[in-house]
Amino acid sequence: MQRITILGATGSIGVSTLDVLARHPDKYEVYALSAHSRVAELAAQCRQYRPARAVVGTPEAAAELARLLGDLAVDVAWGEAALCEIASAPETDAVMAAIVGAAGLAPTLAAARAGKKVLLANKEALVMSGQLFMDAVREHKATLLPIDSEHNAIFQSLPGSYAREPDAAGVAKILLTASGGPFLNRAVETLEAVTPEEACKHPNWSMGRKISVDSATMMNKGLEVIEAHWLFGAPADRIEVVIHPQSVIHSMVSYVDGSVLAQLGNPDMRTPIAHALAFPERIDSGVAQLDLTALAALQFHRPDFARFPCLALAFDALRAGGTAPALLNAANEVAVESFLARRIGFRDIDRVVRRVMDENAHGAAHDIEAVMGQDERARAAAQQIVAAIARH
Ligand code: NAD
Ligand code: MG
Repeated sequence: MQRITILGATGSIGVSTLDVLARHPDKYEVYALSAHSRVAELAAQCRQYRPARAVVGTPEAAAELARLLGDLAVDVAWGEAALCEIASAPETDAVMAAIVGAAGLAPTLAAARAGKKVLLANKEALVMSGQLFMDAVREHKATLLPIDSEHNAIFQSLPGSYAREPDAAGVAKILLTASGGPFLNRAVETLEAVTPEEACKHPNWSMGRKISVDSATMMNKGLEVIEAHWLFGAPADRIEVVIHPQSVIHSMVSYVDGSVLAQLGNPDMRTPIAHALAFPERIDSGVAQLDLTALAALQFHRPDFARFPCLALAFDALRAGGTAPALLNAANEVAVESFLARRIGFRDIDRVVRRVMDENAHGAAHDIEAVMGQDERARAAAQQIVAAIARH
């Protein structure tokens, strides 16, 4: 029996994870669940999955959850320290890191430092802390399994020996596929007027609002380039983004002998979630088998960096190194939040990120304090720029 903690249980990834777990009650048990503010949803999950512990964002939310749970035996707590506790407790074997954004960094790192099996959906945590996170995984013998569909596909397309002997594997390039999001073919001049509803309507995937906007700007792919760099030790020029609008091939690895290995499947996050949960075994995920004959055609083309400036900004941040990716990530989080609140326009997102990157120095990412300091400064700088251009 594997005991699981889900950080961000009420989100899109959290709900898909619980769906997979519910199919295998003989294999998995839920140890702890967390949510930020959706207390009623978390209470319903607690009733169904009976975790020992539940964590929310504030004391008010904790009081409300305790009230909703009545005499159900769940230990309720709130705040970052409690998140770190359920991520590192000896009673848990695996941690699904599915909090969105920088808020997930501390608990995800706590899971790695406790040597857990870390199922990583929270790409922002790795983008921010790159080397520090990978060092913690190695030092504490944690197992890191990617949930992001592209990285899970790459992981599946690499040999099992890759982590031990990357140079012997003969990898020429990592081909990171991207759907291109909802605005792949929309006239560039009309992007200024895009609404949050339009930006969140992804053609192939159903996801949380932040990652949906990131997919529309392609910052998501930019963050994924940085994520791939850390997970697979690949330099920026060996990671190529390929637009593939159908999202059937989830990514590929191209080898020096000319072979290209890919992982295919219906676009449903339960596949990578089930893969990582059961690894190295396979379990049913509830996802329908891919019907190749029903696919009309698969297309591939190069990304247009002028249409998607965020993708170029992310490559810049990766090449700059140090705390530059943390700077990029924080500016983007503030810009996306401001766009979703209708304070700034869609194209202002890349403008805010670019200005924060141009106007603020980055430094070495010696320790987590340096990363968090950079995150705070970048947020303040982004808030200032937003305030100057905001509609309200
Ligand atoms: P979501 O918005 O649907 O859910 C986010 C979860 O995080 C919720 O449970 C919420 O309660 C919690 N949360 C939000 N703010 C928090 C805070 N300040 N402190 C603690 N908890 C907080 O997001 P999602 O789409 O499930 O994405 C989660 C992560 O997985 C993101 O990092 C995203 O990039 C990554 N991811 C998602 C998908 C997908 O298909 N949804 C695919 C690949 C990667
Ligand atoms: Mg992805």
